[in-house]
Formats: sequence, structure tokens, C-alpha cells
Amino acid sequence: MTESVSAPDTSGIRSTDGDLIIMGPPGVGKGTQAKALAQENGWVQLSTGEVFRDHIRRQTDLGSRVKGYLERGEYVPDDVTIRMVRAKLEDISPSTRVLFDGFPRTVAQAEALDRLSDEMGRQVGAVLLLDAPREALLARLNGRATAEHRADDTPEIIANRLEVYEEQTRPVISYYEDRGLVKRVSAVGSVPEITARLREAAE
Ligand code: AMP
Repeated sequence: MTESVSAPDTSGIRSTDGDLIIMGPPGVGKGTQAKALAQENGWVQLSTGEVFRDHIRRQTDLGSRVKGYLERGEYVPDDVTIRMVRAKLEDISPSTRVLFDGFPRTVAQAEALDRLSDEMGRQVGAVLLLDAPREALLARLNGRATAEHRADDTPEIIANRLEVYEEQTRPVISYYEDRGLVKRVSAVGSVPEITARLREAAE
């Protein structure tokens, strides 16, 4: 116990245990959970989908560049997405934990995140992978289409988004599994139940 008395107070400069990535198929509830976790812990939630939607609403250049992709349920090109994430990270202190939500979605993005993290004195500490059966995802996505009027929640586009996820984002899970960073969390249950599971996995 003597260490704790003599140890210098480095709380202000101590790096975090690493950034977190929340992953899972469309409709699994990533956004809702990321928001809750970030809020209760004082982490910064970086949701690439939210940032893109915000640019589209504000009719910025980036917004007009990405609008078609979101409307079709396709991924925004990696270079555009990575540049946007780099700009966001430049404004965040390395001692602040970031919860990435919806990024990285391709192996190229995961590799870029490693390079950016090295450059900026950050690191990925864990990947929280939300899992749910396909029927639950479809029910949720169809419900959200009605509730939030999201242009990318029509049945054809929902199907496309699930397909793109399988093709492009599954390999990202393997990328992090190889490094032993993935923690699987069941996304079946109530919102608070799932938040509690994630909280435990993030510790
Ligand atoms: P989300 O809100 O995470 O479901 O993202 C909504 C849409 O934004 C996706 O279907 C993509 O068109 C786009 N998007 C969000 N994040 C990314 C990303 N990391 N890479 C490419 N496109 C993205």
C-alpha cells in the first residue's frame, strides 16, 4: 500500500486504458448504447454515421459528397471517412477515452486507425461486439424507419446495409480478434440490461 502514498499524482496526464470500439450489425443498437456508455463515463462518442448525417443536414461540402452513399446504404469511401476521423481526433486529447461507434467498418479503416493512433499517442483497448439474431435486427431497423424517418431504413436499403456489413465489416472483427481485443456482448434484452453487459465488458 506504500506505493499509493508515494506514487506521484499522474491522474491528469495518465493515458487511458485505450479507446473503445463498439461494433455490430446495423440495427443492433450500437448508437443507443454508445451514447449511454459515453455519457455515464465521460468518454467522447465518435459516431461516423452521426457526423455524416449532421453534415448532410447542414448542407456542407462533405455532406453533399456523402449523401448518395448514405441514401443507398453504401459505405462512404475510406479516404473520405478516414480524413474526417483524423480531423475529429486532432481535437481530442489522448488522455480522453474515445468510443468509436460505426468506425472502423473496413480493414483499411482499421489499419488507418492504428496509424492515426500511433501518431497521436492513442491505442485501441477493446472492441465491444454486439450480437443479435437477424430477425431482431430486421424488426429493429423496420421500426426505426417509421420512428426516425431515416432515409436509409427502407426494406431494400436495410437488406443492402446488412449485406455490406457481412462483406466489409466482418473481416474487421477478425482483424481485432487476432489481437485478442474482441469482447462479445449479447444485444438481446432491454436497453439497460445491454448497457450493463457492455459496462462490464469495458472494464
Ligand atoms: P450508422 O449511423 O453508423 O449506421 O451509419 C449510417 C451510414 O453512414 C452508413 O450506412 C454509411 O453509409 C455511412 N457510414 C458511417 N460510418 C461509416 C464508415 N466508418 N465507413 C463508411 N461509411 C460509413
